[in-house]
Amino acid sequence: ALRLDDVHVRFGDTQALRGLSVEVGPGEVVAVTGPSGSGKSTLLLCLAGLLVPDTGRVTVGYTVVSSLPDDARTRMRRSEIGVLFQFGELVPELTAVENVLLPLLFSGIRRPVAHDRAMAWLRRLRLDDRADEQVSGLSGGEAQRVALARALVIEPTVLLADEPTGALDTPTGQLVMREMVDTVRASGTTAVIVTHESRVAAYADREIHLRDGAVLGEPAVGRSGLPGSAARS
Ligand code: ATP
Ligand code: MG
Repeated sequence: ALRLDDVHVRFGDTQALRGLSVEVGPGEVVAVTGPSGSGKSTLLLCLAGLLVPDTGRVTVGYTVVSSLPDDARTRMRRSEIGVLFQFGELVPELTAVENVLLPLLFSGIRRPVAHDRAMAWLRRLRLDDRADEQVSGLSGGEAQRVALARALVIEPTVLLADEPTGALDTPTGQLVMREMVDTVRASGTTAVIVTHESRVAAYADREIHLRDGAVLGEPAVGRSGLPGSAARS
């Protein structure tokens, strides 16, 4: 469903991705790990169509995203790809359900229909009793589950998540992560989840470990002595 072929991305003097090739099958749930600066977020931006690589190819489904014109890339992103970041980036003064129905309004769906669909997702994530609560009054874990509902309400074929539980305490983060993985599995959504925590990777089907902008292969056990392995957080 997702492919990167020999992708290079440079920011000024920094080579963020250097010949990265990754393939993720339909419905697969993949964890991306690696030290700070290894290119995890850059990889997600390329998959999301938010960044066009300098060279190499990005494919989502049958679409070569990296060669689409801007407007087509934006359309594809809005209809096919759900994104979730460390801080859910919800609108704090809106209620939970209002936040979840926003992406549907953007795609031209009428409000009553959008409201029903948003409520269905909140119910699925056992948040329906919080639906009319302002987001600023929710706990961190609840807010991230609302953000998850908002990412999934468009029924994307792909969910891209960048450190989605990074701002939560460990037990809450684990619960939210487990819930996220269960939900994407149940809906057959392909998911690429960036995380610093190898424990989180245990919920995924597979782990892709990046080091210096390319795939290292297996998790970093026993590899810390390799050149270029120093985390730069
Ligand atoms: P972290 O775990 O800290 O989030 P990461 O693995 O997500 O790190 P990236 O954000 O993909 O790493 O960054 C890869 C490299 O590219 C880093 O050296 C970073 O400083 C650099 N970089 C990323 N985005 C930009 C940018 N917009 N401008 C300049 N340099 C950038
Ligand atoms: Mg990052």
